[in-house]
Amino acid sequence: MKQRKDISRIAVFTSGGDAPGMNAAVRAVTRAALAHQLEVYGIKRGYQGMIENDFVKLEAGDVSGIMHLGGTFLQTARSKEFRTHEGRKKAFENLKNHQIDGVVVIGGDGSFAGALAFTQEFDIPFVGIPGTIDNDMYGTDYTIGYDTALNTVVEAVDKIKDTANSHGRIFFIEVMGREAGALALKAGLACGAEVTFIPEIQNEEEELEKFLTKDYKNKQRSGIVMVAEGDRAGGALKLAEKVQKNHPEIDVRVTILGHIQRGGSPSANDRVAATQMGVAAIDALLNNQINVMIGMKNNKIVHVPFSNEVKTNREFNADLLKIQQLINSAY
Ligand code: ATP
Repeated sequence: MKQRKDISRIAVFTSGGDAPGMNAAVRAVTRAALAHQLEVYGIKRGYQGMIENDFVKLEAGDVSGIMHLGGTFLQTARSKEFRTHEGRKKAFENLKNHQIDGVVVIGGDGSFAGALAFTQEFDIPFVGIPGTIDNDMYGTDYTIGYDTALNTVVEAVDKIKDTANSHGRIFFIEVMGREAGALALKAGLACGAEVTFIPEIQNEEEELEKFLTKDYKNKQRSGIVMVAEGDRAGGALKLAEKVQKNHPEIDVRVTILGHIQRGGSPSANDRVAATQMGVAAIDALLNNQINVMIGMKNNKIVHVPFSNEVKTNREFNADLLKIQQLINSAY
Protein backbone atom coordinates (compact mmCIF):
# COMPACT_ATOMS: atom_id res chain seq x y z
CA MET A 1 0.00 0.00 0.00
CA LYS A 2 1.21 3.49 -0.83
CA GLN A 3 2.40 5.41 2.23
CA ARG A 4 0.72 8.77 2.91
CA LYS A 5 3.03 11.72 2.43
CA ASP A 6 0.60 14.24 3.92
CA ILE A 7 1.12 13.11 7.52
CA SER A 8 4.04 14.78 9.19
CA ARG A 9 2.77 15.55 12.69
CA ILE A 10 0.61 13.38 14.94
CA ALA A 11 -0.97 13.70 18.38
CA VAL A 12 -1.52 10.97 20.97
CA PHE A 13 -3.70 10.99 24.10
CA THR A 14 -5.34 8.72 26.68
CA SER A 15 -9.07 8.90 27.44
CA GLY A 16 -11.77 7.40 29.68
CA GLY A 17 -10.76 5.17 32.58
CA ASP A 18 -7.01 4.66 33.04
CA ALA A 19 -5.58 1.21 32.47
CA PRO A 20 -2.13 -0.25 33.17
CA GLY A 21 -0.16 -0.32 29.91
CA MET A 22 -1.39 3.05 28.64
CA ASN A 23 2.08 4.51 29.23
CA ALA A 24 3.65 1.67 27.25
CA ALA A 25 1.22 2.44 24.40
CA VAL A 26 2.07 6.17 24.42
CA ARG A 27 5.75 5.26 24.38
CA ALA A 28 5.31 2.92 21.41
CA VAL A 29 3.20 5.41 19.43
CA THR A 30 5.73 8.18 20.08
CA ARG A 31 8.80 6.11 19.24
CA ALA A 32 7.21 4.55 16.12
CA ALA A 33 6.15 7.99 14.86
CA LEU A 34 9.61 9.45 15.49
CA ALA A 35 11.20 6.47 13.74
CA HIS A 36 9.10 7.40 10.68
CA GLN A 37 10.33 11.02 10.94
CA LEU A 38 6.98 12.30 12.18
CA GLU A 39 6.68 14.96 14.88
CA VAL A 40 4.67 14.01 17.96
CA TYR A 41 2.49 15.94 20.38
CA GLY A 42 0.94 14.51 23.53
CA ILE A 43 -2.45 15.88 24.61
CA LYS A 44 -2.99 15.99 28.37
CA ARG A 45 -6.30 14.99 30.04
CA GLY A 46 -8.01 13.35 27.07
CA TYR A 47 -10.65 15.16 25.02
CA GLN A 48 -10.89 17.87 27.69
CA GLY A 49 -7.22 18.75 27.17
CA MET A 50 -7.82 18.78 23.41
CA ILE A 51 -10.57 21.36 23.95
CA GLU A 52 -8.45 23.37 26.41
CA ASN A 53 -5.36 23.33 24.17
CA ASP A 54 -3.22 21.30 26.59
CA PHE A 55 -0.60 19.99 24.10
CA VAL A 56 3.03 19.02 24.84
CA LYS A 57 5.74 18.17 22.31
CA LEU A 58 7.12 14.66 22.82
CA GLU A 59 10.65 13.54 21.98
CA ALA A 60 12.07 10.02 22.38
CA GLY A 61 13.48 10.81 25.85
CA ASP A 62 10.13 12.11 27.12
CA VAL A 63 8.70 8.59 27.01
CA SER A 64 11.65 6.75 28.49
CA GLY A 65 11.32 5.17 31.94
CA ILE A 66 7.50 5.01 31.79
CA MET A 67 6.81 1.57 30.32
CA HIS A 68 6.66 -0.15 33.72
CA LEU A 69 4.43 2.49 35.34
CA GLY A 70 0.67 2.09 35.80
CA GLY A 71 -1.76 4.95 35.16
CA THR A 72 -1.05 7.42 32.36
CA PHE A 73 1.51 10.21 32.51
CA LEU A 74 -0.57 12.18 29.98
CA GLN A 75 -3.46 11.87 32.45
CA THR A 76 -7.00 11.15 31.38
CA ALA A 77 -10.44 12.69 31.77
CA ARG A 78 -14.09 12.34 30.94
CA SER A 79 -15.22 15.36 28.93
CA LYS A 80 -18.87 16.42 28.77
CA GLU A 81 -17.98 19.23 26.41
CA PHE A 82 -16.62 16.88 23.75
CA ARG A 83 -20.07 15.31 23.52
CA THR A 84 -21.27 18.60 21.96
CA HIS A 85 -20.54 19.86 18.45
CA GLU A 86 -19.20 23.13 19.90
CA GLY A 87 -16.74 21.23 22.09
CA ARG A 88 -15.51 19.12 19.18
CA LYS A 89 -15.14 22.27 17.04
CA LYS A 90 -12.87 23.82 19.68
CA ALA A 91 -10.85 20.57 19.71
CA PHE A 92 -10.59 20.64 15.90
CA GLU A 93 -9.33 24.23 15.93
CA ASN A 94 -6.63 23.37 18.46
CA LEU A 95 -5.54 20.35 16.41
CA LYS A 96 -5.45 22.54 13.28
CA ASN A 97 -3.44 25.26 15.04
CA HIS A 98 -0.88 22.63 16.01
CA GLN A 99 -0.87 21.34 12.41
CA ILE A 100 -1.81 17.84 13.54
CA ASP A 101 -2.43 15.50 10.57
CA GLY A 102 -3.43 12.37 12.49
CA VAL A 103 -4.48 11.42 16.02
CA VAL A 104 -4.04 8.26 18.10
CA VAL A 105 -6.59 7.83 20.91
CA ILE A 106 -5.99 5.22 23.62
CA GLY A 107 -9.16 4.38 25.55
CA GLY A 108 -12.40 2.43 25.75
CA ASP A 109 -15.54 2.32 23.61
CA GLY A 110 -16.71 5.75 24.79
CA SER A 111 -13.45 7.27 23.58
CA PHE A 112 -13.99 5.65 20.17
CA ALA A 113 -17.59 6.88 20.04
CA GLY A 114 -16.08 10.36 20.54
CA ALA A 115 -13.57 9.70 17.75
CA LEU A 116 -16.39 8.56 15.45
CA ALA A 117 -18.43 11.70 16.15
CA PHE A 118 -15.36 13.88 15.52
CA THR A 119 -14.27 12.20 12.28
CA GLN A 120 -17.82 12.43 10.88
CA GLU A 121 -17.63 16.21 11.29
CA PHE A 122 -13.97 17.10 10.70
CA ASP A 123 -11.24 16.01 8.35
CA ILE A 124 -8.48 14.85 10.68
CA PRO A 125 -8.03 11.04 10.79
CA PHE A 126 -8.08 9.08 14.05
CA VAL A 127 -6.79 5.62 14.96
CA GLY A 128 -7.75 3.98 18.28
CA ILE A 129 -5.91 1.64 20.63
CA PRO A 130 -8.15 -0.30 23.05
CA GLY A 131 -7.06 0.49 26.61
CA THR A 132 -9.48 -0.70 29.27
CA ILE A 133 -9.32 -3.26 32.09
CA ASP A 134 -12.80 -4.52 31.12
CA ASN A 135 -11.76 -6.35 27.90
CA ASP A 136 -15.21 -5.55 26.60
CA MET A 137 -14.50 -4.17 23.15
CA TYR A 138 -16.07 -5.52 20.00
CA GLY A 139 -13.57 -6.70 17.37
CA THR A 140 -10.56 -7.45 19.57
CA ASP A 141 -9.60 -10.39 21.77
CA TYR A 142 -7.44 -8.15 23.90
CA THR A 143 -7.53 -4.72 25.49
CA ILE A 144 -4.53 -3.15 27.21
CA GLY A 145 -4.80 -3.31 31.00
CA TYR A 146 -7.00 -6.39 31.24
CA ASP A 147 -4.19 -8.86 31.90
CA THR A 148 -2.70 -6.73 34.67
CA ALA A 149 -6.09 -6.18 36.33
CA LEU A 150 -6.87 -9.88 36.13
CA ASN A 151 -3.59 -10.75 37.84
CA THR A 152 -4.25 -8.12 40.52
CA VAL A 153 -7.64 -9.69 41.25
CA VAL A 154 -6.18 -13.20 41.38
CA GLU A 155 -3.43 -12.12 43.77
CA ALA A 156 -5.95 -10.44 46.10
CA VAL A 157 -8.40 -13.35 46.03
CA ASP A 158 -5.62 -15.87 46.77
CA LYS A 159 -5.03 -13.98 50.01
CA ILE A 160 -8.74 -13.85 50.81
CA LYS A 161 -9.00 -17.60 50.21
CA ASP A 162 -6.50 -18.26 53.00
CA THR A 163 -8.80 -16.66 55.54
CA ALA A 164 -11.96 -18.03 53.88
CA ASN A 165 -10.59 -21.58 54.17
CA SER A 166 -9.50 -21.14 57.78
CA HIS A 167 -12.97 -20.07 58.89
CA GLY A 168 -15.17 -21.93 56.40
CA ARG A 169 -16.56 -18.64 55.17
CA ILE A 170 -18.27 -17.60 51.97
CA PHE A 171 -16.66 -14.50 50.48
CA PHE A 172 -18.47 -12.36 47.94
CA ILE A 173 -15.79 -10.55 45.94
CA GLU A 174 -16.83 -7.58 43.81
CA VAL A 175 -14.66 -6.81 40.80
CA MET A 176 -14.90 -4.01 38.24
CA GLY A 177 -17.17 -4.39 35.20
CA ARG A 178 -20.19 -2.09 35.01
CA GLU A 179 -21.50 -3.56 31.78
CA ALA A 180 -19.21 -6.48 31.02
CA GLY A 181 -18.23 -9.57 32.98
CA ALA A 182 -14.97 -10.52 31.25
CA LEU A 183 -12.81 -9.64 34.26
CA ALA A 184 -15.07 -11.46 36.75
CA LEU A 185 -15.40 -14.44 34.44
CA LYS A 186 -11.69 -15.15 34.03
CA ALA A 187 -10.91 -14.17 37.62
CA GLY A 188 -13.57 -16.65 38.76
CA LEU A 189 -11.97 -19.43 36.77
CA ALA A 190 -8.43 -18.53 37.85
CA CYS A 191 -9.39 -18.36 41.54
CA GLY A 192 -11.56 -21.48 41.60
CA ALA A 193 -14.72 -19.52 42.42
CA GLU A 194 -17.85 -21.54 43.13
CA VAL A 195 -20.15 -19.16 41.24
CA THR A 196 -19.58 -16.04 39.11
CA PHE A 197 -22.17 -13.30 38.67
CA ILE A 198 -21.86 -11.25 35.46
CA PRO A 199 -24.15 -8.78 33.69
CA GLU A 200 -24.43 -10.93 30.55
CA ILE A 201 -26.40 -13.79 32.15
CA GLN A 202 -29.03 -14.13 34.85
CA ASN A 203 -29.42 -17.62 36.29
CA GLU A 204 -26.49 -17.49 38.71
CA GLU A 205 -28.69 -17.24 41.80
CA GLU A 206 -29.91 -20.81 41.20
CA GLU A 207 -26.30 -21.92 40.86
CA LEU A 208 -25.39 -20.20 44.12
CA GLU A 209 -28.36 -21.72 45.95
CA LYS A 210 -27.31 -25.16 44.75
CA PHE A 211 -23.83 -24.62 46.17
CA LEU A 212 -25.10 -23.26 49.48
CA THR A 213 -27.66 -25.99 50.11
CA LYS A 214 -25.84 -29.00 48.66
CA ASP A 215 -22.10 -28.43 48.96
CA TYR A 216 -21.62 -25.89 51.69
CA LYS A 217 -22.52 -27.96 54.73
CA ASN A 218 -21.18 -27.63 58.24
CA LYS A 219 -18.52 -25.18 57.09
CA GLN A 220 -16.49 -28.03 55.67
CA ARG A 221 -15.93 -25.94 52.60
CA SER A 222 -15.33 -22.28 52.12
CA GLY A 223 -16.52 -20.44 49.07
CA ILE A 224 -15.65 -17.67 46.68
CA VAL A 225 -18.44 -15.95 44.79
CA MET A 226 -17.14 -13.58 42.14
CA VAL A 227 -19.46 -10.67 41.36
CA ALA A 228 -19.05 -8.14 38.54
CA GLU A 229 -20.10 -4.73 39.89
CA GLY A 230 -22.74 -4.30 37.16
CA ASP A 231 -24.46 -7.63 37.72
CA ARG A 232 -28.26 -7.49 37.88
CA ALA A 233 -28.20 -8.83 41.45
CA GLY A 234 -26.97 -5.35 42.45
CA GLY A 235 -23.35 -5.99 43.45
CA ALA A 236 -21.64 -8.10 46.09
CA LEU A 237 -23.04 -6.29 49.12
CA LYS A 238 -26.70 -6.67 48.13
CA LEU A 239 -26.19 -10.26 47.13
CA ALA A 240 -24.44 -11.13 50.39
CA GLU A 241 -27.21 -9.45 52.42
CA LYS A 242 -29.82 -11.53 50.64
CA VAL A 243 -27.88 -14.75 51.20
CA GLN A 244 -27.33 -13.91 54.87
CA LYS A 245 -31.05 -13.29 55.34
CA ASN A 246 -32.00 -16.62 53.73
CA HIS A 247 -29.18 -18.58 55.37
CA PRO A 248 -28.44 -17.01 58.78
CA GLU A 249 -26.20 -20.00 59.68
CA ILE A 250 -23.69 -19.18 56.95
CA ASP A 251 -20.63 -17.08 57.70
CA VAL A 252 -20.72 -14.47 54.95
CA ARG A 253 -18.16 -11.76 54.16
CA VAL A 254 -17.83 -9.16 51.40
CA THR A 255 -14.73 -7.64 49.78
CA ILE A 256 -15.02 -4.92 47.17
CA LEU A 257 -11.67 -4.77 45.41
CA GLY A 258 -12.30 -1.31 43.91
CA HIS A 259 -9.61 0.88 42.40
CA ILE A 260 -6.74 -1.40 43.39
CA GLN A 261 -7.67 -3.20 40.13
CA ARG A 262 -6.71 -0.21 37.99
CA GLY A 263 -3.27 0.44 39.43
CA GLY A 264 0.11 -1.20 39.42
CA SER A 265 2.91 -2.00 37.05
CA PRO A 266 1.58 -3.47 33.77
CA SER A 267 2.13 -7.18 33.13
CA ALA A 268 4.53 -8.34 30.43
CA ASN A 269 1.53 -9.24 28.22
CA ASP A 270 0.08 -5.73 28.54
CA ARG A 271 3.43 -4.12 27.76
CA VAL A 272 3.94 -6.29 24.68
CA ALA A 273 0.37 -5.76 23.39
CA ALA A 274 0.66 -2.00 24.01
CA THR A 275 3.90 -1.90 22.04
CA GLN A 276 2.51 -3.97 19.15
CA MET A 277 -0.66 -1.89 18.97
CA GLY A 278 1.22 1.42 19.27
CA VAL A 279 3.42 0.54 16.30
CA ALA A 280 0.38 -0.75 14.36
CA ALA A 281 -1.48 2.52 15.00
CA ILE A 282 1.27 4.55 13.31
CA ASP A 283 1.46 2.03 10.44
CA ALA A 284 -2.30 2.36 10.02
CA LEU A 285 -2.18 6.18 9.86
CA LEU A 286 0.65 6.09 7.34
CA ASN A 287 -1.10 3.47 5.19
CA ASN A 288 -4.41 5.31 5.16
CA GLN A 289 -6.19 2.76 7.36
CA ILE A 290 -7.97 5.52 9.23
CA ASN A 291 -10.88 5.93 11.62
CA VAL A 292 -10.34 2.40 12.89
CA MET A 293 -9.50 0.73 16.18
CA ILE A 294 -6.40 -1.46 16.22
CA GLY A 295 -7.49 -4.87 17.48
CA MET A 296 -5.86 -8.22 18.13
CA LYS A 297 -7.57 -11.35 16.76
CA ASN A 298 -5.86 -14.73 17.08
CA ASN A 299 -2.60 -12.92 17.83
CA LYS A 300 -2.81 -10.89 14.63
CA ILE A 301 -3.33 -7.15 14.30
CA VAL A 302 -6.71 -6.21 12.78
CA HIS A 303 -8.37 -2.88 11.90
CA VAL A 304 -11.92 -2.43 13.17
CA PRO A 305 -13.86 0.60 11.83
CA PHE A 306 -15.22 2.94 14.53
CA SER A 307 -18.92 2.22 14.74
CA ASN A 308 -21.90 2.71 16.98
CA GLU A 309 -22.56 -1.02 17.06
CA VAL A 310 -19.45 -1.66 19.11
CA LYS A 311 -21.41 -1.83 22.36
CA THR A 312 -24.23 -4.03 21.16
CA ASN A 313 -21.98 -6.51 19.36
CA ARG A 314 -19.73 -7.33 22.26
CA GLU A 315 -18.53 -10.90 22.31
CA PHE A 316 -18.80 -12.97 25.47
CA ASN A 317 -17.11 -16.30 26.13
CA ALA A 318 -19.91 -18.42 27.58
CA ASP A 319 -17.67 -21.53 27.44
CA LEU A 320 -15.74 -20.29 30.47
CA LEU A 321 -18.89 -20.39 32.61
CA LYS A 322 -19.67 -23.92 31.47
CA ILE A 323 -16.15 -24.97 32.41
CA GLN A 324 -16.57 -23.44 35.87
CA GLN A 325 -19.88 -25.28 36.37
CA LEU A 326 -18.37 -28.57 35.25
CA ILE A 327 -15.39 -28.25 37.59
CA ASN A 328 -17.67 -27.44 40.53
CA SER A 329 -20.18 -30.19 39.76
CA ALA A 330 -17.63 -32.84 40.77
CA TYR A 331 -18.47 -32.36 44.48
P1 ATP B 1 -13.75 3.06 30.03
O1 ATP B 1 -14.06 1.80 29.25
O2 ATP B 1 -12.59 2.91 30.90
O3 ATP B 1 -14.96 3.66 30.69
P2 ATP B 1 -14.19 4.88 27.86
O4 ATP B 1 -13.31 5.38 26.77
O5 ATP B 1 -15.37 4.03 27.45
O6 ATP B 1 -13.27 4.15 28.91
P3 ATP B 1 -15.97 7.11 28.49
O7 ATP B 1 -16.01 8.01 29.66
O8 ATP B 1 -17.20 6.34 28.14
O9 ATP B 1 -14.72 6.14 28.71
O10 ATP B 1 -15.56 7.98 27.19
C1 ATP B 1 -14.43 8.85 27.24
C2 ATP B 1 -14.80 10.19 26.68
O11 ATP B 1 -15.13 10.06 25.29
C3 ATP B 1 -16.02 10.85 27.30
O12 ATP B 1 -15.70 11.52 28.50
C4 ATP B 1 -16.43 11.83 26.21
O13 ATP B 1 -15.63 13.00 26.26
C5 ATP B 1 -16.08 11.07 24.94
N1 ATP B 1 -17.29 10.43 24.41
C6 ATP B 1 -17.88 9.28 24.79
N2 ATP B 1 -18.99 9.02 24.07
C7 ATP B 1 -19.12 10.05 23.18
C8 ATP B 1 -20.05 10.39 22.16
N3 ATP B 1 -21.10 9.59 21.88
N4 ATP B 1 -19.86 11.52 21.46
C9 ATP B 1 -18.81 12.33 21.72
N5 ATP B 1 -17.89 12.08 22.68
C10 ATP B 1 -18.03 10.95 23.40
